Amino acid sequence: MAVYSYLMVWAATLLGIRIGYFEPDTPHWLLFGATLAANLVFFLIIRSGRSERWTDPSLTVPQMMVGIILITALLHYSRELRGAMIAIYFMAMTFGVFALSRQRMILMSGFVLLCFCGLEAWEWQQAPETKILSISFGHTSILLLGLLWFVYVGGHIRNLQQRNQQQRASLRAQQRHLEQINVQLQDAMARLEDVAIRDALTGLFNRRHFMERIDEEIARAERSGRPLHLALIDLDHFKQINDSHGHQAGDQVLRTFAETARQTLRRSDLLARYGGEEFVVLFTDGEAEDIRQVLERLRQALSQHRFNGPPAFSVTLSAGVASWHQSDTADTLIQRADEALYRAKHNGRNQLVAVD
Ligand code: GH3
Ligand code: MG
Ligand code: MG
Repeated sequence: MAVYSYLMVWAATLLGIRIGYFEPDTPHWLLFGATLAANLVFFLIIRSGRSERWTDPSLTVPQMMVGIILITALLHYSRELRGAMIAIYFMAMTFGVFALSRQRMILMSGFVLLCFCGLEAWEWQQAPETKILSISFGHTSILLLGLLWFVYVGGHIRNLQQRNQQQRASLRAQQRHLEQINVQLQDAMARLEDVAIRDALTGLFNRRHFMERIDEEIARAERSGRPLHLALIDLDHFKQINDSHGHQAGDQVLRTFAETARQTLRRSDLLARYGGEEFVVLFTDGEAEDIRQVLERLRQALSQHRFNGPPAFSVTLSAGVASWHQSDTADTLIQRADEALYRAKHNGRNQLVAVD
């Protein structure tokens, strides 16, 4: 903006020299060259980022001062045009309206007055015969009036601008706050969803979630024709464990079983707590033999675990496995696994019975 303004004033000065409103020997190259060079220095300082740490990062005050000095020099060469040229000072003052405090605007106005009165005084001293007191006085009064107006209106504009900035900052803060709340809400919802589908004691999926998923998996198997197997697992003589070691020990057994099953089964196997000490696994992948091996490993792992007593004890499980057929619903599949489980119990527990 400053460079455009200077170029504009330069062009007007050249025109002024042409038509005789400026002294023919106005050193316009020197004046505008020096001003633009000063501007280049300001530009480089701002670009380098050095001014970021200063209270006035865009160097408004020094930029305005250079402009004011240039205008003062131009006024010296401006002959009868001086009265009109005074308006150019206000161009420089406009740059301060958005960037400077009222106090600095007052100081800047003082600087303008100082420059102008200095020029007048110097000219009076140099060539009193060319000066007319009433005109000097008139120019100074008009300048003072204009500067006062700038300080007053500029202050208002700056207040408005500051209020606008404050509102924007407060809006941004509110937005950040809302975003935080949103994250917390999503977090809470995710936790709630998790609570809704999991069993509190073991952390496994609960029966309701399992029944939803099994329907989906059966629909998928119907489309793909891939094998599906379901195992019902029941801990043996669990009531006795509760009775002889206490309910807490019973809970610990359930948690240990859940952990062992999680480690033994594959990620694709859908494991859930079906009820009390009964668990269910839906195998969406693998043949009957693979599944038998996985369950056998689980059976052995649990039976080998020693639970702290006193006295120390171990727990076994019985499992019934059924393979899914095209005509099967979730109920008929579970029903057949339950029958297999019953047979495993009947045959002496701590074993696996698979039915087709
Ligand atoms: P079986 O070998 O025939 O399965 O005998 P069992 O004793 O395991 O079978 P039963 O179904 O008679 O007993 C299950 C017991 O599981 C009864 C109940 O008190 C206990 N139980 C159910 N849920 C929990 C639980 O969350 N924590 C504890 N500690 N015990 C539970
Ligand atoms: Mg049971
Ligand atoms: Mg049992």
